[in-house]
Amino acid sequence: KRERQLLSEKQAAAGQLAAGIAHEIRNPITAIKGFVQLMMSEHKGETTYYNIVESEINRVEMILKELMVLAKPTKIHYQELDIQRLLDKVLTLMESQTLLNNVEVIKNFHTLEVSVVGDENQLKQVFINYIKNAIEAMPDGGKLVVEGIHVNECVHIRIIDEGSGIPPDILERISEPFFTTKEHGTGLGMLVSNEIIEEHKGKINILSNTEGTSIEVILPTA
Ligand code: ADP
Ligand code: MG
Repeated sequence: KRERQLLSEKQAAAGQLAAGIAHEIRNPITAIKGFVQLMMSEHKGETTYYNIVESEINRVEMILKELMVLAKPTKIHYQELDIQRLLDKVLTLMESQTLLNNVEVIKNFHTLEVSVVGDENQLKQVFINYIKNAIEAMPDGGKLVVEGIHVNECVHIRIIDEGSGIPPDILERISEPFFTTKEHGTGLGMLVSNEIIEEHKGKINILSNTEGTSIEVILPTA
């Protein structure tokens, strides 16, 4: 138990460090990107190398954005959040991606009438991360179930996909920083989500087999 606590403290410290570095690197990267775009517009027709530079910069920006979520943001704002509304907002944000990927969303949370205390942007980020992973796990489309139930003093929210699942040896590693099995993955989604849920005094349970994956988030109700 003590060892796990130490590990999680170490991970939190590493997260803070990474987030601090991400903040410092972001401005110069934004400047570099601006100049590359300027150069591209001045050298139309011979843009292949510029395109590579630009797409790699975009990738760096994506990694920085994810890392920065790990920083204790100054504008973190805890408030009472209606879970039903929060999930509806997240699914609206993800609608183009689900449509483009032939993913049918089944919402089973409309009987929930509970609130949690949390930071809206951070909690949205958690569900966006899980839903993105679910979509990416179903390259040929499928069903995505988002369900919520109220049990005692907690709300259980599950994101269930029909993907090919997470093999046990990989399951152990998915929360390691930069661990990814995807060609263009950042390997930060699970880590960032873990940190946020921990910060909100919640729990995460993952069930996975070759038929699909269920990610359950348990949060104390307000
Ligand atoms: P990324 O999505 O950039 O790879 P994540 O931290 O979000 O990084 O996920 C880490 C890894 O966990 C993924 O590369 C994938 O192997 C695995 N994973 C997470 N969610 C799922 C899921 N729903 N189905 C299958 N594999 C998953
Ligand atoms: Mg991901």
